[in-house]
Amino acid sequence: MLSIQPDEITSILKEQIKKYERELTDTSTGTVLSVGDGIARIYGLEQAKAGELLDFGNGIVGMVFNLEEDSVGAVIFGNGRTIKEGDTVKTTGRVVEVPVGEALLGRVVDPLGNPLDGKGPIAASGTRLVESPAPGIIQRKSVHEPLQTGLTAIDAMTPIGRGQRELIIGDRQTGKTSVAIDAILNQKGQNCLCVYVAIGQKASTVANVVKTLEDHDALSYTIVVSAPANAAPALQFLAPYAGCAMGEYFMYKGQHVLAVYDDLTKQAWAYREMSLLMRRPPGREAYPGDVFYLHSRLLERAAKLSDAMGAGSLTALPIVETQANDVTAYIPTNVISITDGQIFLETDLFNAGVRPAINSGISVSRVGGAAQTKAMKKIAGKMRLELAQFRELAAFSQFASDLDKATQDQLARGQRLTETLKQPVNAPFSLGKMIVQIYMVTSGLVDDVDVKQLLRFRKELLSYLETSHPDIEATISETGLLTDETEAKIKKVVGAFKESVFKK
Ligand code: ATP
Ligand code: MG
Repeated sequence: MLSIQPDEITSILKEQIKKYERELTDTSTGTVLSVGDGIARIYGLEQAKAGELLDFGNGIVGMVFNLEEDSVGAVIFGNGRTIKEGDTVKTTGRVVEVPVGEALLGRVVDPLGNPLDGKGPIAASGTRLVESPAPGIIQRKSVHEPLQTGLTAIDAMTPIGRGQRELIIGDRQTGKTSVAIDAILNQKGQNCLCVYVAIGQKASTVANVVKTLEDHDALSYTIVVSAPANAAPALQFLAPYAGCAMGEYFMYKGQHVLAVYDDLTKQAWAYREMSLLMRRPPGREAYPGDVFYLHSRLLERAAKLSDAMGAGSLTALPIVETQANDVTAYIPTNVISITDGQIFLETDLFNAGVRPAINSGISVSRVGGAAQTKAMKKIAGKMRLELAQFRELAAFSQFASDLDKATQDQLARGQRLTETLKQPVNAPFSLGKMIVQIYMVTSGLVDDVDVKQLLRFRKELLSYLETSHPDIEATISETGLLTDETEAKIKKVVGAFKESVFKK
């Protein structure tokens, strides 16, 4: 290896800078001393500030990451292979910012806002700092409007409000991304824009997500920010902040935004990689000491703004991947403590055919109840209670041989409710459809339908309602209420359907 004499090089650089200072006022120039693994050490940038954008020439940019006594450590955004020792680096006097605006909707971009979808340049309305402070207490209002995901298991059991931060957590391949994508699909016509940030995923997975959004007409109101697994760690680290900034633009304009960060585990890995390469001291699980701040400053930016601020909102659905359901690992505990609730997905449930594999017993939403529609509130309480009793009984009844009638009934009810919570991917339900199916189970209308037939019953009933009684779904979805009159109507229609239309 070439031996480097820092002192010698600094003295040369210092002389050069002296010369440069006469010509340039707000930029300074340094020289690359070493480069590799997505980071560069630079001499001679005494004026550089933490987080400042650096220009490596040829369109390559980087960010000041470490300020050391006689050098600056920088991370490089993108492929730094063309950068060589001795190359010139300029400070820009700017911190990292991304383009924002309506033109980004329907586009796939990298964390610096460069298009990745081949649809040409983006006519942005302006730029926004990637890192900006979260709104303060006075600028906020408590979360009170529902953000419907279209998934019964979430909207009924762990409702989410606009401006809330709800964590989706589970092992690999448990349907985490699917839950988040379904939530995006369900925002169609709901006056809510979406940002999907893909961090450290396979490019093919991201392509599939984009295709799903396109197929369901959801891309037109969504921005996809992608930093795939082969992107520089600095880009993976930056991606969620960039996505958040793009969402904030709309929030501060008084609009509603749903942001999905898929997933923060990979962002933390990228940050750990950068920090270790920069020789920052490793802490627990080799993460640097400020990894909590990495996620808290991102998620604090989700908010429901006060009326004076325009009443916009940014709802965050961060995703975290666990190993063997271990929620006590470092990143899961951190993010759990930052968010307002979590949705647990489990491999066992997924394999047992309970999909979405949400464990509703341990999933919580700390603010969503305040943001549930009246109709849902009216029937979800009973459902939650019955399911809780069912879980308790089910565990207990494994040991008992013969059960009394009341217990058997309760078990049967629980099985039907569990069945109702199952839902295929990319098929979110409207509020009306959700209410009808929960109501029919909790009020005992389908107690005589075989559990195994229930999903087919639901499917056929819902399409029967769509063609023959569209008013029921429409009334509930539009008013958000379940009146006695509607209840009576549901009873009548479900009864008639069961008698004369449904074939056992
Ligand atoms: P990864 O850990 O790889 O990111 P993930 O937890 O995000 O995975 P998904 O990619 O959402 O999981 O889903 C994994 C597989 O399970 C996919 O093939 C998806 O189609 C399927 N799946 C997810 N939800 C359901 C569902 N409700 N019903 C049927 N299949 C589902
Ligand atoms: Mg996923």
